[in-house]
Amino acid sequence: MIEIIASINSAIETVRKLGVLNEKIKDADVKMLIADLNIELANAKNSIAELSTENQKLKVEIDELRNNKMEKLQFKRGAYYDTAGDGPFCPGCYDGKHLKSRLVDNNPDFNFIGNYKCSVCTKMFKVTE
Ligand SMILES: [Zn+2]
Repeated sequence: MIEIIASINSAIETVRKLGVLNEKIKDADVKMLIADLNIELANAKNSIAELSTENQKLKVEIDELRNNKMEKLQFKRGAYYDTAGDGPFCPGCYDGKHLKSRLVDNNPDFNFIGNYKCSVCTKMFKVTE
């Protein structure tokens, strides 16, 4: 999106330069074409702004749909569990990325940090049984 806006701004600058050049030539037809080009570029810039706004709205809508479709997990004793009681699943992955990542037993040497480790993000968690 930023590249498109930069291109249009560059085109507007080129049109401005053409206008300066035409001051020397004083051709009425060229002046009319430059005016038309300015109008078209302004219209394109407005269209991009509208598309950008619409794109933002659609992104929010997609996030809402994903959240509604996402399986609801229950948080208890430091981790998430599904309705069948399967788990524990990673709180960081579920809350942040809507992923149902399994927690696995951690190396006992690191139990002072956490007794479980996420199989995806590798963060450690203390989960009480
Ligand atoms: Zn995780």
